Amino acid sequence: MKDFKARVEDFKKKFDKALAGAKDGKSLQELRNTYLSRKKGVVKSLLEELKAFKPEEKSKAGKMLNTLKNHVQKKLETAQKKFTAPETIEKKIDLTLPGEKKYWGAPHPVVLFQQKIENIFISMGFSIEEGPEIETDYYNFEALNFPPHHPARDDWDTLYLSDDLLLRTHTSPVQIRAMENRKPPIRIIVPGRVYRRETPDPTHLPMFYQVEGLVVDKGITFAHLKGTLEYFLKTLFYEKLKIRFRPSFFPFTEPSAEVDIECLVCRGEDDKCRVCKGTGWKEILGSGMVDPQVLKNVNIDPEKYSGFAFGMGIERTAMFAFQIPDMRYFFENDLRFIRQFTLK
Ligand SMILES: [Zn+2]
Repeated sequence: MKDFKARVEDFKKKFDKALAGAKDGKSLQELRNTYLSRKKGVVKSLLEELKAFKPEEKSKAGKMLNTLKNHVQKKLETAQKKFTAPETIEKKIDLTLPGEKKYWGAPHPVVLFQQKIENIFISMGFSIEEGPEIETDYYNFEALNFPPHHPARDDWDTLYLSDDLLLRTHTSPVQIRAMENRKPPIRIIVPGRVYRRETPDPTHLPMFYQVEGLVVDKGITFAHLKGTLEYFLKTLFYEKLKIRFRPSFFPFTEPSAEVDIECLVCRGEDDKCRVCKGTGWKEILGSGMVDPQVLKNVNIDPEKYSGFAFGMGIERTAMFAFQIPDMRYFFENDLRFIRQFTLK
């Protein structure tokens, strides 16, 4: 037993010495094998010797052996960390490389503008209405006062799916659907995709976003139209924005007006401005009083009720506000473009 104790202590000293001289992970592994291998390790062979001991000696010897085993394991573990940790970090992190930039998601500029427009109208008591993108000729044209073969239809380069079905050329058919489904007072805006037969170029796309508005109630006048649109545009851009109304023509409104706002780029002070072509104004909205015939088409009595409607292109407005020179950028999915925009 004394002899056994001395040998255990001797192994411990030898181990400590060997460990102090270990230079890398490989020599640690060798030490581990020498002492802890389940087949022929030092601990294992000492354990074999216990069989010959008397029971009380066996227990003492077992404890000694256990202490040795724990000592070896603990020291090896600590040494292992010292050897491997710095090596691994060096391999994983090359401090000379440029950092990886993490990008936050950003809303698409069209979504950004659509949400801002929606929020302004919601604050005025409007609700948001949606409608189908595949329309019938009736909703897209006829109910809006474009009889068949009416020349105004030529202004809308329509994509037909069949004789009667088409991709809506404007969001205005939703006006008809809303007026069929509910009684005045009606206050809605209709954001959505519309389609025209266009070849993509810097200012045209075959698919783009519009937002349409409609108000129908008793006693609605052109003053309501002006007040609503002025409030809307000043909230969208800024309080002192200059706005003007110009007479225009749309089949479904009478009278009709185009709405211009001052050029956000030159504020009318550069007669060579490329954005407004030196006029100082930029057309931004189409609007007008709902034509009595349109009200009759949906069984609303034009003697009792009147209304106004307006519409604008969302990309066009975003292009003007953000100085985006080419409409095609919106749908090219270039993240460098899309990540740039925020609205306050
Ligand atoms: Zn200008």
